[in-house]
Amino acid sequence: MNLILLGPPGAGKGTQAAAIAASHGLIQLSTGEMLRAAVKAGTELGRQAKAVIERGALVPDEVVVRIIDERIARPDCDRGFILDGFPRTLGQAAALDDLLAARGRQLDLVIEIEVDDAALIERISGRYACAKCGAGYHDKFKQPKTPGVCDVCGSTEFLRRADDNAETVKNRLMAYYKETSPLIGYYFAKGKLKQVDGMAPIPEVTRQIERLLADVVAA
Ligand code: AMP
Repeated sequence: MNLILLGPPGAGKGTQAAAIAASHGLIQLSTGEMLRAAVKAGTELGRQAKAVIERGALVPDEVVVRIIDERIARPDCDRGFILDGFPRTLGQAAALDDLLAARGRQLDLVIEIEVDDAALIERISGRYACAKCGAGYHDKFKQPKTPGVCDVCGSTEFLRRADDNAETVKNRLMAYYKETSPLIGYYFAKGKLKQVDGMAPIPEVTRQIERLLADVVAA
């Protein structure tokens, strides 16, 4: 099964992609994560992407398309993947169509996570993650069970993303509405689009996605 999760920053794409990837044995492909890893590793790609990410702008299409093309070619993606944060422009969507067609593969479903705009800034500004295992938390909505200790791996170190500050978030939202939201119409026209209510609690959003996937499997 090959899926895309679509939605603005803060919609919960990463959280839901991780849950669905685990339950269906799919590979989660997050271009944001891959770019952050490149920044951390200090590669040439990372050096180029760092300033763009910190501004909340988009990295050029050809850069992210190349990353995804190479990643999808690896055998662990044969069983299927879930794209989170890609594609983000119509150019990337068209390139994805081409590279899937070239491999005789197709998209099964694009799931749009719908959220109220007003909730996004609060959601993004409060989020942080375990520095060791990457488990996600939020100041208001999801604190670790024992304060200061990661539920998953027990680490006591946490990180906030450099681009999760109020100013950058506004630019990221702007980029979403200008560049990415046209993909909703693009995939609707292809008959691939379904929606879930991203304002529901996290496990309920996961259940809604699971119901959509059950329909795909049954079809
Ligand atoms: P994310 O983790 O998906 O919120 O992505 C973080 C940042 O990485 C974005 O604000 C962009 O600067 C960059 N980025 C991630 N994915 C893409 C993409 N598909 N196209 C362009 N830029 C991207």
